[in-house]
Amino acid sequence: MNRRTKIIASIGPASDDEATLKDMIEAGMDVARINLSHGTLEDGLERYRRIRAVSESANKNVAILADLPGPKVRLGEFAEKRLLSPGDELFLTPGEGPSTEEVITVDYETLLSDMVEGDKLIVGDGSVVMRVIGSTGDKLQVRIEYGGSVQGKPGLHIPSERLKISTPTREDLRLLDAFVSAGIDMVGLSFVRSAHDVRRVGTEPAPRGPLVVAKIETKAAVENLDGIILAAGAVMVARGDLGAECSLHELPHLQKDIIARCIALGRPAITATQMLESMVTAPAPTRAEASDVANAVFDGTSAVMLSAETAVGVDPANVVSTMAAIAQRADENFDYEGWAHHIKRDRLIEPQSVDAAVTDVMTMATWRAAMEMGVKAIFCISRSGFTVRAIARFRPKAPILAFSPEERTVRQLAMSWGATAIKIDRIESNDESVRNVLRIARDEGYVRSGDIVAVLGGSTATIGATDTLRMVRCP
Ligand code: PGA
Ligand code: MN
Repeated sequence: MNRRTKIIASIGPASDDEATLKDMIEAGMDVARINLSHGTLEDGLERYRRIRAVSESANKNVAILADLPGPKVRLGEFAEKRLLSPGDELFLTPGEGPSTEEVITVDYETLLSDMVEGDKLIVGDGSVVMRVIGSTGDKLQVRIEYGGSVQGKPGLHIPSERLKISTPTREDLRLLDAFVSAGIDMVGLSFVRSAHDVRRVGTEPAPRGPLVVAKIETKAAVENLDGIILAAGAVMVARGDLGAECSLHELPHLQKDIIARCIALGRPAITATQMLESMVTAPAPTRAEASDVANAVFDGTSAVMLSAETAVGVDPANVVSTMAAIAQRADENFDYEGWAHHIKRDRLIEPQSVDAAVTDVMTMATWRAAMEMGVKAIFCISRSGFTVRAIARFRPKAPILAFSPEERTVRQLAMSWGATAIKIDRIESNDESVRNVLRIARDEGYVRSGDIVAVLGGSTATIGATDTLRMVRCP
């Protein structure tokens, strides 16, 4: 079985050169992520153009995700590495300058009025934990509860219910504009708290605009989950910040619940952060990390994501191939039947339109027919990719081949579980389209003459709904 779970890799200084990018694509990178929390807009755009150029010359379908920073708070620069020990008492003050021996600056204007005694502040992805113990005029006093070293400009996690700024920030919208003009495939929205935050992105619906990936990393997002999923194009279980917002022993369960809900509503789910963290420096993952990747697949994730491992790690291509091997092996052992039964029960019962309702029942019928006939592949003729994501909900064992005349749909489907997307010139009448995609699939070696395939599409070239399923023998 070919790998069904998709791989997202963050691109950074360690993976900027063309040879490394090419190796990562060969190793299985489906989506390249540009984390806009680091570097300038110009750096980001340059990265974007380089990734496009390399994937085009490699002739591989790679999507690009621009991840907006959101209201990310950072500590003022530490001139050199500094150890913060448990019990130390320090002062934090709002400001833009560097941190000094006595006072740590925080680029968050309303720090003093927003925080109250007893609040917990987390540095980085949990390397240092401090507790607010008081405030004195223009400074906040904190005690280090959990010590560690800090360097550069580490992020500071402020509990989201205290945070006054909402996402997308004005800076996010500026970055968004530039990337939309450049033709970005997907954008990540950090620290979402409501469906309204997602709607404020305001881009055209996919595929004309980017697929909006709502990052679930606040308590409010967990509470407003269904609304956020329905407003978004995809969802990320952003375990770094989510793990700071809730107890770590809740995190594995939140991951399962968010993924299950997301797939039931027909949106791809991404599992992110620290998946193969030790490979930032090591040539192989820990046993726990190998299990984590496999378990995310068993939870039903559509894609697994690499962050520092590929952005600043020692061997980005090795990390991607390690993740690809673990995911592919896990795909083989996935509980396909159990999953489909859960989706049949929990899928969206009141779709938002008649077309969506038709697609819902037709994809369910296709999953069933494909399973009972043991088809070689499920073909999907789809303009926006909606039908492809709808059939993927059921995790059919047969490969999904998606055919779309929209280039951006083809790339956006790089993140969809189990789908191989192929660009076609146009959607014609059903008869002609079916003939066309059968020929392409056979010529490209996906199926052979005599194979039985299920073909899902619209009865006419212009119909919105996916209303036609045909079981055909490949000529
Ligand atoms: P980040 O998002 O890496 O942009 O913070 C992912 C996470 O929080 O896990
Ligand atoms: Mn985050």
